[in-house]
Amino acid sequence: MICKMQKIWYCEYCGKRYFRNWPNHEKYCTMNPDRECRMCKVKRDYRELETSARMLMLLTPKDEEFHVGKIESMVECCPACTLTLVRMIQRRCGDRFLEAFFSWNYHERCTWWW
Ligand SMILES: [Zn+2]
Ligand SMILES: [Zn+2]
Repeated sequence: MICKMQKIWYCEYCGKRYFRNWPNHEKYCTMNPDRECRMCKVKRDYRELETSARMLMLLTPKDEEFHVGKIESMVECCPACTLTLVRMIQRRCGDRFLEAFFSWNYHERCTWWW
């Protein structure tokens, strides 16, 4: 019998696992508020953006399409940056705001972006 020890890397933010080498995922992980965006290459203050997005949602809780559009326009419609904000808001507010993003599809937006 052979017993092998294997290193496993976990992303601190989203929990993604890597078995071989660490592909620098954390730096770009959409759950990392200090991430760099590989899609739009813009360095943003996600914490501040998230705060203003949440304020907006609290002020107009019923207007869901408006929220998605507004959040997208905060990050010049970059899908990865939008996803980062959506995930941050969801983590803080739980499922209360989940519905707002039902119609928003990350992969669809990516196709559109490229
Ligand atoms: Zn991650
Ligand atoms: Zn981006």
